[in-house]
Amino acid sequence: MIKENIQDFKSKIPENVTLVAVSKTKPIEDLQEAYDAGQRILGENKIQEMVDKYDALPKDIKWHMIGHLQSNKVKYMAHFVDLIHGVDKLKTLKVINKEAKKHDRVIKVLLQAKIAKEDSKFGLSFNEIDAILTSEEIATLQNIKVVGFMGMATFTEDKEQLKEEFSSLKNFFDTQKSKNSDLEILSMGMSGDYQLAIENGSTMIRVGSSIFGSRNYYE
Ligand SMILES: *Cc1c(COP(=O)(O)O)cnc(C)c1O
Repeated sequence: MIKENIQDFKSKIPENVTLVAVSKTKPIEDLQEAYDAGQRILGENKIQEMVDKYDALPKDIKWHMIGHLQSNKVKYMAHFVDLIHGVDKLKTLKVINKEAKKHDRVIKVLLQAKIAKEDSKFGLSFNEIDAILTSEEIATLQNIKVVGFMGMATFTEDKEQLKEEFSSLKNFFDTQKSKNSDLEILSMGMSGDYQLAIENGSTMIRVGSSIFGSRNYYE
């Protein structure tokens, strides 16, 4: 089924939208099946789990870290991670920069914006993002590149609310983009809300359960 699901997604999403297949908690065989179906971008939310899977699978897979980061574990993925989605502190950017430097790499990151009305979600306000992007400090971090933003909407069926949350981040993204040509990725949308996210400007969707089936536990 995984193969069919990947093909189905590839055929229904627009060409300018990138699919991240979120394989967290799933066994290696499932990831291999996605790979065999042509999927080359996989998303994980735990560093150790991603490292184990990286070691076991073909090396042309692009690994995206989509979970909340623990700074002390960044070093384990610094040699291979392709994109880190959920950065919400300048301090974490510094840690990533330091670890990337050890491998002579520039690691791409997305800043996580808080768009959900819920309290539990991580993320920065638009003002905080603006402050980071214009800070003197970020200009000194040569081994990271902020290439866009990531947002998670409220877990709700209310389409108007989702639309409002996604489009607010899209508007902010467009404003920032006009000042900073490095910004090219807007990561919004999961299994339950990716259509609305795409309609409201997403360029990258993170889809887990609609590809791999439901998980036994969440995060
Ligand atoms: C698990 C997860 C996803 C995928 O969720 P699904 O609802 O299974 O598609 C997307 N983004 C983040 C940050 C996640 O943790």
